[in-house]
Amino acid sequence: MEEFIKISDILDGKYDEKNVWVRGWVYRHRSSKENIFFILRDSSERIQCVVKKNKDFFNIADKMGIETSLYVYGFVRKDNRAPGGREIEVEKLQIIGQSQNFPISKDISEEFLLDVRHLWVRSWKMINVLKIRSTIFNAIHEFFKKEGYYYVQAPFFVKTSESGLEMFEVDYFGKEKLRLSQTAQFYLEALIYGLEKVYTLGPSFRAEKSKTARHLTEYWHCEAEAAWMDLDGLAKLCENLVSYLAQSVLENNKKELKELGRDYKILENIVPPFPRITYTEALEILKRDGIEVKFGKDLRSIEEKQITAHFNKPVIVTHYPKKVMAFYKPRDQKNPELARCLDILAPEVGFEIIGGSERDLNIDEMKKALIEQKDDPRNYEWYFDLRRYGSVPHAGFGLGVDRVVMWFTGVPTIKDAIAFPRTIERTEP
Ligand code: ATP
Ligand code: MG
Repeated sequence: MEEFIKISDILDGKYDEKNVWVRGWVYRHRSSKENIFFILRDSSERIQCVVKKNKDFFNIADKMGIETSLYVYGFVRKDNRAPGGREIEVEKLQIIGQSQNFPISKDISEEFLLDVRHLWVRSWKMINVLKIRSTIFNAIHEFFKKEGYYYVQAPFFVKTSESGLEMFEVDYFGKEKLRLSQTAQFYLEALIYGLEKVYTLGPSFRAEKSKTARHLTEYWHCEAEAAWMDLDGLAKLCENLVSYLAQSVLENNKKELKELGRDYKILENIVPPFPRITYTEALEILKRDGIEVKFGKDLRSIEEKQITAHFNKPVIVTHYPKKVMAFYKPRDQKNPELARCLDILAPEVGFEIIGGSERDLNIDEMKKALIEQKDDPRNYEWYFDLRRYGSVPHAGFGLGVDRVVMWFTGVPTIKDAIAFPRTIERTEP
């Protein structure tokens, strides 16, 4: 078997004036009287190939459709007219998989591209996005390993969880109704008593009715929880993680960012410390901008966006009003109207990428909050057990990884940040 060369290595100049075997797919194709030019794509790069008229496979090469897969043997020549500066003059050509009338051509709608996502994932745009996405997922594991966190897994079939309304129901053997998990938080909280610092990376499911550019019904959620951690430690952990992700992408994917037309200067700026403001200060900023938000109301997306316009880094907003926060976010002792929590809002896209908080240790307070939110404290007995046996102060957060991919890559919707998106309307392919 021949040894196949990565196209990127050829473009790097390692095979100039040499013969190589390459394999991949036909990306573009055009014929003139004398020559056929086609662009061959593999996962690493694309290169122009030329077939001269005198070759006995000229007619075969002429009829190759877009996305035909093939082996090519040929001579690498520097040529400034070729995209990438190099060209392969083809000596041998073997078709591996035919492809005729590939359904995706120019001028197709976004909706159509979602219908044929199983084919569109080979577009150079999606390849670039998915490479960056892969860097981000790897970097999450690297970061937490470096910080001494254990990688744990929580179940996805759950009985109940925070704000059950937005969850998907699953029929479990006709015996009971379960739900698909929308956060691993409670399980991570249970695990800190043995492991102290834990994180997980997996899907979360939300029956979001909202048709926005930033909501999926199945998204990838990175969550961490640490014993002995307070709000300040949590903010530091979050900003270190986000900047680690940005720096990893800069280190590994400058080329992909450029090809996506992304100005990566903004990512260079994502280094600690991030600006921190309180919810109350956020209301003052909004007021100066002519947007009146009554104290006690959660921030809506247009308000989040407006706040981020004042910063060129992610901004950490802390101390939201207790009464609109989830029951486990504790009251601030100095100002009991407020909760010891944070959201991190990303610049440019202007939405939340992280939500986190200290966790309430007071069972009675949590029961009271649940009743106020018309929930039943009896459903949370095992969670309260965690406060009964050696309770410790602790904190944690959840990061929407697809949202980070969307922001870093600059794609216009979260649907383009994941290979096979799930939304209210989109359940296949
Ligand atoms: P939003 O108000 O934007 O819907 P949220 O307050 O519901 O966010 P959390 O419950 O705090 O979000 O979830 C933690 C993180 O998970 C969010 O900061 C966000 O990055 C991400 N996230 C939440 N819901 C979705 C979703 N439907 N699709 C993609 N990411 C999501
Ligand atoms: Mg939400």
